[in-house]
Amino acid sequence: MSEKALICTVCESRYPFRTSFSRCPKCNEPLELEEIGTGSIKAEAYFNIFRRYGEFFPFREPYDELDLGEGMTPLVWTPALAKKYGIGAVAFKNETANPTWSFKDRGTATALRHAKILGFSRIGTVSTGNMAASVAAFGAKTGVETTILVSSDIPSEKLNPIAIYHPRLIRVHGDYSRLYSESLRLGEELGIYFMNSDVPFRVEGSKTIAFEICEQTSFRVPDFVIVPTSAGGNIRGIEKGFREFYKVGLIARIPTIVCVQAEGCSPIVKAFEKKSLVVERFSNPHTIAHAIENPFPPSGNQVLRVLNKNSGVALAVSDEEILAAQKELAETGLFVQPASASSLAALKRLVHDGALKSNHCVVCVLTGSGLKYTSVFQHYHLAVEECDISQLKPCLSHSIS
Ligand SMILES: [Zn+2]
Repeated sequence: MSEKALICTVCESRYPFRTSFSRCPKCNEPLELEEIGTGSIKAEAYFNIFRRYGEFFPFREPYDELDLGEGMTPLVWTPALAKKYGIGAVAFKNETANPTWSFKDRGTATALRHAKILGFSRIGTVSTGNMAASVAAFGAKTGVETTILVSSDIPSEKLNPIAIYHPRLIRVHGDYSRLYSESLRLGEELGIYFMNSDVPFRVEGSKTIAFEICEQTSFRVPDFVIVPTSAGGNIRGIEKGFREFYKVGLIARIPTIVCVQAEGCSPIVKAFEKKSLVVERFSNPHTIAHAIENPFPPSGNQVLRVLNKNSGVALAVSDEEILAAQKELAETGLFVQPASASSLAALKRLVHDGALKSNHCVVCVLTGSGLKYTSVFQHYHLAVEECDISQLKPCLSHSIS
């Protein structure tokens, strides 16, 4: 394969594959790897996304040594929920089954390959949640020096699951929102590959979510795919994955992509509703869905362009709706973090609004595990019975139903 270019999502300027900067120097908008328009699935390579979908990546070798077993996550069908909401079919792409329990591992593994090809010996990221843990874990696996920048007010509930991988972990005092661009700038200068939320090769990793959904639906793609959206890299990758499989003729259409955000931090939805093409900083963000609480998403404008081009949908759900959906998912056997539950909350809203019909198939992407935020338990009255061992028989004799 000839080397693919990185292309500006606005002015279409082309930059070499071996570019380490992630945004167009002219527009400051995200770069995206040139579409891969030929290729096929290597079906025999079942457990490895870089082998199975190798022809859709611009790498000359799979680099197995960088892997922790990311991807190939289950698509869980829930006939009971489909029946309850009067939809043809509902399935959940369970990204909590990744090595560090979130979708971020796909993008980390992909960006790590790019960093290796470019010869970087230091990597890093800016995150207080899923991405920090993911980069720290892959850094530990591969032995490259790994720096994680977090905000100074990060609670220990979030800090320790990053620290356990023993990266260089730095609490940065000052304006956290400036860290995204400041880290990219300093990374260029100092030779640290900052694999932040929407860098081009993180987006490339996310497209494998779409590839797997295609395969798991026997290439009869769903009508809607609902994606909790923060920085915008994941939803961009998922859309690109469907686009590439469409281009090579593996699927006949691209699903309607639904961007869901929390009402307490919904800059993309606000711009979408105003028919604006530019995302504005969301003031005073506050939501229980911390993993999608990004007041100024770096890929926000590109997400708007993608939604507008493909007749996509953007909507915001309240914390109450998110908590109700989280509980409902747990009672279906899927315990996810609040941000992930926003996808089911969005589905319910779309049903309410009449957008989903009895013949529709919907896939919700569950981005990260519920065990990441155990403080959420305080919102529920969780029942526990007690019994002395001598009373176990009478206790078990009656059924609760
Ligand atoms: Zn540009």
